[in-house]
Amino acid sequence: MSHLFPSLRGDSSPLLISGPCSAESREQLLRTALELQREVNLKLFRAGAWKPRTTPGGFEGYGRDALGWLRDVREKTGLLVGTEVGTPIHATLAKDYGMDFIWIGARTVSSPFAVEEIAASLEGYDKPVLVKNPLAPDIDLWIGALSRLKNHGVLRTGAILRGFTIGGESALRNMPLWHLVEEFRRKAGADIPLICDPSHIAGNRSFIPSVIRESLRRNLDGLLIESHCCPQEALTDRDQQVTPADLRQILEEVKMEDDLRATGDHTPPELARLRLRLDQIDEEVVRLLGERLRMTDQIGAWKSFHHLTPFQEEREKALYSSRGQLARIYGVPETLVDDLYHLVHSVALKRQEERSK
Ligand code: PEP
Ligand code: MN
Repeated sequence: MSHLFPSLRGDSSPLLISGPCSAESREQLLRTALELQREVNLKLFRAGAWKPRTTPGGFEGYGRDALGWLRDVREKTGLLVGTEVGTPIHATLAKDYGMDFIWIGARTVSSPFAVEEIAASLEGYDKPVLVKNPLAPDIDLWIGALSRLKNHGVLRTGAILRGFTIGGESALRNMPLWHLVEEFRRKAGADIPLICDPSHIAGNRSFIPSVIRESLRRNLDGLLIESHCCPQEALTDRDQQVTPADLRQILEEVKMEDDLRATGDHTPPELARLRLRLDQIDEEVVRLLGERLRMTDQIGAWKSFHHLTPFQEEREKALYSSRGQLARIYGVPETLVDDLYHLVHSVALKRQEERSK
């Protein structure tokens, strides 16, 4: 992977590309990018500037404007940004706007003429170019696209498995045909990274975790997952986009299962998932306790400045009684809340006393 994105060398986390299907506005991109950075420590941000639509007349992307927004995202967040190119003009613009990586979509890869023209326009391009599998399960056509790039001196290439259109009934939008992964690797060579795109395989956010699990079992080299700050408002691929917070949850769950598998831990995944949720709740509880302590310190400073003693009898009475009421509302045993607040309150008072000396 490191030859693809050398700036990530030393980062042991697996390759993750995420971002919305389409760039819809500067605000949508920036908000999604910041949330992804916070939630999953994202390094590689994607968004479609041009959208290849099956039927004409739909939203086809903001093109050049979207490239400007992506450039702004990189400036404001430090994320590396990339987009899909489908024509030599797109490729040239993507270069001009300094995209950090680009990819060629499934529909474009299906046409050798189109790929040849794009490859020629990228002559000697030194940033990563990712090639999605073509719509049909034709591994040679896929590898052919990679070879065309190589023939034009584009050496940092990678492949993306986004599933194949093969017709028939399936819950998935595109069939991953996992057995073809072996054939791809054999023919393309082990040094071409193969990234899984669970979003376009699944077509629906509920199937994304199981596609990720299978890609991990098959040792694919990374993930491209579509994420949108408000999936319900997305202009394209609405059903398969997840919020950055959902993405974090999904990745934590599958990573935990994968770690368990690797260490031979046989904790049932269902129990492990529940424990993970418990760990997250406790993290929130401790984070809030910290916030509470900082707040009581601030109150302590105010009291000290106004020559009030930390202990205030009527406040203490009101505190215990209102917390007892909360215990009843939230179905928590009153003794637990009472004991907890005696402890928390006494620590807060002690700190206020020490600090006012
Ligand atoms: C995309 O990544 O948003 C996209 C259009 O993908 P694909 O080419 O796999 O359909
Ligand atoms: Mn999409």
